[in-house]
Amino acid sequence: MTFMTEEWIKLKHKLDNSKRVYIFGAGFSGWRVYEHLRFYPYSFFFCDNNSEKIGTVAYGERVVSVEDAAKDSERVILIPHGKYETEMVNQLKEYHLESDEYAICYKSLIPLKKTRIEIQVVDHCNLKCKGCNHLSPLAKEYFIDIEELKKDYIQLNNLFGERIERICLLGGEPLLHPQLKDICILTRRYFKNTNIAIITNGTLLDKQNEAFWDMCVDNRISIEITEYPVNVSYSKIEKRLQDRGVDVKVFSSISSFVHYPIDELGRQDAYESFKLCDRANTCLLLSNHRIYPCAIPPNIKYYNSRFGTNINVKEEDGVSIFDEKDAESAFSKLSSPIDFCKYCDMKNAKNEIWGISSFEKNEW
Ligand code: SF4
Ligand code: SF4
Repeated sequence: MTFMTEEWIKLKHKLDNSKRVYIFGAGFSGWRVYEHLRFYPYSFFFCDNNSEKIGTVAYGERVVSVEDAAKDSERVILIPHGKYETEMVNQLKEYHLESDEYAICYKSLIPLKKTRIEIQVVDHCNLKCKGCNHLSPLAKEYFIDIEELKKDYIQLNNLFGERIERICLLGGEPLLHPQLKDICILTRRYFKNTNIAIITNGTLLDKQNEAFWDMCVDNRISIEITEYPVNVSYSKIEKRLQDRGVDVKVFSSISSFVHYPIDELGRQDAYESFKLCDRANTCLLLSNHRIYPCAIPPNIKYYNSRFGTNINVKEEDGVSIFDEKDAESAFSKLSSPIDFCKYCDMKNAKNEIWGISSFEKNEW
């Protein structure tokens, strides 16, 4: 039984029958589509209207003008789904392209070939952000069990091997786990060549001792800090870690977040929600021996218990790493909508100003 969507099967047919694949836009949206497709055996290019980008190389692929891409008769042009898609379609129509010569591309529907996996080492967080998509402000204290994690790592290796490119240890706030050092060492033991990063809000980094930093250097564990508008000197921390030889990255200050409203009654079209979802098939989360296409289903229990709702997670919403036959089959399931997506009102997603949670339902 195949889990690939009809839409992906049709797009793949188009890609298989084209000599060159151009991704419209050498910016962030184009990169996200490329990230999903880059291990497929196609000849990729970007096409862009920005004269400063034309003739350069982006993400390892050549950037050409949209006009040149349109003139190539043995190509397909992929338009990343997003706010510019209508303008892009209109521009291609001006070059007289027929609708079978381009396609809107929904990255969530593309089965991955390699992936990153997120591990929620704690569920709770010391910084309670409004609308947190791991629902950490509502979470009880929970610390992942190292022995259970070890079993999952052995099985993840059996199932995916080198197809796991990156492991993100996160939360909640991962530095709240008293055994984070041991978790990092364990992760490196099972994933020798994988990029491993601790994703943190940075507020507890000053409390870590020298042994922790030695462990990060010895085990090639990166620290990735998301900057929040709180009283923390992120630049000082960054400098301190750099001087200590730790691989550190600071991501610019969060001022807003995307609010994807939860529809408690599950009235949404799961397929449409999944297709439009930015997180789907990108932020794969391992929880209780299952991989989910995002962090919401395994954490919805905290919403249910806070607000007295009964939003239901089905077993098959997550891919069981112990029951799946191989990586290909896991990747195709993870690129298909799950029943749970009917609780996500993607059409009404909007940007909201970042703030500390008041634990109100309308933040989610
Ligand atoms: S810092 Fe991150 S994990 Fe913590 S509440 Fe904010 S968004 Fe959630
Ligand atoms: S449940 Fe589905 S639609 Fe909702 S955030 Fe996750 S992947 Fe996206």
